[in-house]
Amino acid sequence: MSTLTPEELEERLGDPADDTNPYGFAAAVARDERDEFPEELCAELVRAGFHRNYLPKEWGGAFESFDRSLTLVRSAARRDVNVMPGTMFSIIAATCLQLHGSVEQQQRAAEILRSGGAVAFALTEAAHGSELLTNEVRLTPESTLTGEKWLVGLGLRGEAVYVVARTGERGPGAFSAVLLETDRIPEGRLERVPAPRTGGMRGIDLATLRFHDTPVPEDALVGRRGEALEVAVKAQQAVRLMSMAGSLGIADTAVRIALDFATGRRTGRTALVESPWSKRELSVAAAALLAADAAALSAARGVHVVPEAFSVWALSAKHVVAEATDDLIRRSGTVLATRSVLREGAPGAGLFQKLQRDSQVVRVIDASTLANLRSYAGQLPTLTEGTAPADEDAVHSVFSLDAPLPPYEPARLDMFARGQDPVLAGLPDTADALPDGLGEAA
Ligand SMILES: Cc1cc2nc3c(=O)[nH]c(=O)nc-3n(C[C@H](O)[C@H](O)[C@H](O)COP(=O)(O)OP(=O)(O)OC[C@H]3O[C@@H](n4cnc5c(N)ncnc54)[C@H](O)[C@@H]3O)c2cc1C
Repeated sequence: MSTLTPEELEERLGDPADDTNPYGFAAAVARDERDEFPEELCAELVRAGFHRNYLPKEWGGAFESFDRSLTLVRSAARRDVNVMPGTMFSIIAATCLQLHGSVEQQQRAAEILRSGGAVAFALTEAAHGSELLTNEVRLTPESTLTGEKWLVGLGLRGEAVYVVARTGERGPGAFSAVLLETDRIPEGRLERVPAPRTGGMRGIDLATLRFHDTPVPEDALVGRRGEALEVAVKAQQAVRLMSMAGSLGIADTAVRIALDFATGRRTGRTALVESPWSKRELSVAAAALLAADAAALSAARGVHVVPEAFSVWALSAKHVVAEATDDLIRRSGTVLATRSVLREGAPGAGLFQKLQRDSQVVRVIDASTLANLRSYAGQLPTLTEGTAPADEDAVHSVFSLDAPLPPYEPARLDMFARGQDPVLAGLPDTADALPDGLGEAA
């Protein structure tokens, strides 16, 4: 099956500004008002094969490269970022299974995901957040699960769930993973209830999972005991990467709504878009969007070229994109003024206020801001003291958008950069090659 392109997707979903379009802005605002899952939109995306964009070809997917997937998802997220949780939350469980699942487990997951189903990922616990080493959900020696996970994406509807549970007492090696098929769990042993509702991305399926001595079949253990946390931390890099597509989709629509408004609105005889202050705010917002796109696209290409150092790339790109998105939403909002807070009768059918809330949720989908920055800062000494020589070919592959990319190899992802970043080492030469003055900031 051929790969879906953003252009085909746009054509298929129709004009987002058409208030009667079930896949447009007005429909997204209406769903938000009702806390409603985007059933119809996601079903259409599944019919179009959109949900296969991150699945490897061996799984019957359409994945080619992360830069292509990022661009496709970004274009869908411009209408409603909820399409991402709606169709892609399983990316983390899928990546974990690619990294250490048995052939049978991979085949089963592929079967579920190809048909538009979901494999949920249950790691986070309310009491522990980013302090994963203190998580309590336990896989007992009698092979039962006990405890509670929260904010499990697609946890209410998932056909299977990948659970990270404690099997030891201390340290990162104290956690193992199991893959459970929900319809094989005996009645009453797994309670799935809606998680606390969110202010943005309303209506997406987030669950609290309560394990009541849930029996775990022998073949449910994924990989070896003790390796689950390492695998989960590696797989989170893929989520971090694709979450940027969500931020960019939101950011793109925010800037467009503000620009459209400023083009049509006049103050006196001057179009708002020409008045100095609005012009500056919109210019900076558009520049922030370009910068965010450049960071995300470089990261999406970088994961193919230097996966060993991607633990740093994912964190830094995500931070840049989240901050740039916040900044440009604020600037666009000041131009829209009152219309930035209206839930109806405003540009984009009142979508802007939803974009503001959605953006705050994307920011914490994988980790809180500080946890993200801490992981980044912790790796800086290795990077700055590393002795890896610059690799011109690697620099070219990442930053020349028409350069071919090597295949994505998740097995080469690492938890921490270990001093090997031949692209970063190429930065001084690249800066020197820039025209006078431009390279000084680097
Ligand atoms: C839409 C959505 C979908 C999600 N989907 C899933 C899912 O499918 N599966 C899943 O398992 N989880 C999921 N999550 C949970 C997500 O991973 C957590 O929200 C994320 O890890 C942040 O957790 P936290 O804010 O509770 O905790 P923390 O990151 O611990 O933050 C709490 C506070 O502690 C501070 N803090 C954290 N670490 C430190 C430190 N070392 N030193 C000082 N201060 C610190 C932070 O700055 C913050 O102020 C989802 C969340 C959302 C919003």
